[in-house]
Amino acid sequence: MAVKLPIYMDNQATTAVDPRVLEAMLPYFTEKFGNAASRNHEFGWKAEEAVENARGQIARLIRANPREIVFTSGATESDNLAIKGVADPLREKGRESGNHIITQATEHKAVLDVCKRLEKSGSDVTYLPVSADGLIDLDDLRRAITPKTILISIMYANNEIGVIQPIAEIGKIAKEKKILFHVDAVQAVGKIPVDVQKDGIDLLSISAHKIYGPKGVGALYVRRKDPRVELSAMIDGGGHERGMRSGTLNVPGIVGLGKACEICLKEMQEESERLRLLRDKLKHSIMSRLYGTAINGSMDQRLPNNLNLSFSGVEGDALLMGINDVAVSSGSACTSAMIEPSYVLRALGVSEDLAHSSIRFGLGRFNTEEEVDYVADRVVETVKRLRELSPLYEAAKPRATR
Ligand SMILES: *Cc1c(COP(=O)(O)O)cnc(C)c1O
Repeated sequence: MAVKLPIYMDNQATTAVDPRVLEAMLPYFTEKFGNAASRNHEFGWKAEEAVENARGQIARLIRANPREIVFTSGATESDNLAIKGVADPLREKGRESGNHIITQATEHKAVLDVCKRLEKSGSDVTYLPVSADGLIDLDDLRRAITPKTILISIMYANNEIGVIQPIAEIGKIAKEKKILFHVDAVQAVGKIPVDVQKDGIDLLSISAHKIYGPKGVGALYVRRKDPRVELSAMIDGGGHERGMRSGTLNVPGIVGLGKACEICLKEMQEESERLRLLRDKLKHSIMSRLYGTAINGSMDQRLPNNLNLSFSGVEGDALLMGINDVAVSSGSACTSAMIEPSYVLRALGVSEDLAHSSIRFGLGRFNTEEEVDYVADRVVETVKRLRELSPLYEAAKPRATR
């Protein structure tokens, strides 16, 4: 059977809405259009009921209480609310009450840029380094803690290399030291088991569009007990979401996020197993046919649906151009007018050249084995062709293959 082109294999960037999610959402645009805050008629009650149902679906996936879920416009907002919401009130009380945050070099920009802004207004931030496999060192974390530390923010799984941090151990350290623990779990939730109780998490960011839900909706888990987390709001007006996030709720989006979580809870185990096999097949199929290929990030502590490879002796742009019927991401990021190597890969110690010639493969629910075979073939033939064109690579080849 011929595969349908182009192939989408960039599921760490976003995912297609699952048809079951769309179906659940549709009535909330039309006949069930009520405002969830309208307390005196049927339209409002129906919307509120749908929102509360979604809160339950999300809470079940991460073992939280539904009352601990705050809806947002996405994980960027959830990360902002979690970190600024903890740091701002304490800073206003003065430096003595604590102003130190610990995070890591390979966080998403939604965490790093918030920390950079807080540094400008008087917070101290420690950016933990990662080892060549992308993992932080727990001893580095212990050493970074000071009496002024108020928050640890470490992501569950990285969006470029899929590496999973030792979240339960970090949670334990945070608890011992009575420091709040925020986790950007966008890439982990729905893919691997996430349990805010077992992992000792106080704040956790979720995004719908990374788990086959719609864009522009997310949630922040905010612990209510042991300890009860107090956040200052970023958006005032109306006091929705227990005063933490005002604004009329995006009811269809929230219904979609809830349904996406329900499906993940039911299908995660089987889906992860399927994607792990496909991912491993992709890896083997490429690496057994090409030398000069390296894996970025730990292969053991890794999401089942992620593969990140560097190909020496080829230009990243040329490689992506050569496989332009396959949607993947490169290890280059366009910041303003410049093309820069991925800061995540650089933090692992990957050279600038190799970072540019890296590819992230993000497998997802709708990928098939035929697609994996096609992608592997295209990558292998493209890399071989580009290397043949490159006189530099000829000289660098291993002797036996010259
Ligand atoms: C996508 C992503 C975000 C941002 O989520 P949005 O809902 O798009 O704002 C934050 N963190 C990680 C790890 C992500 O992958």
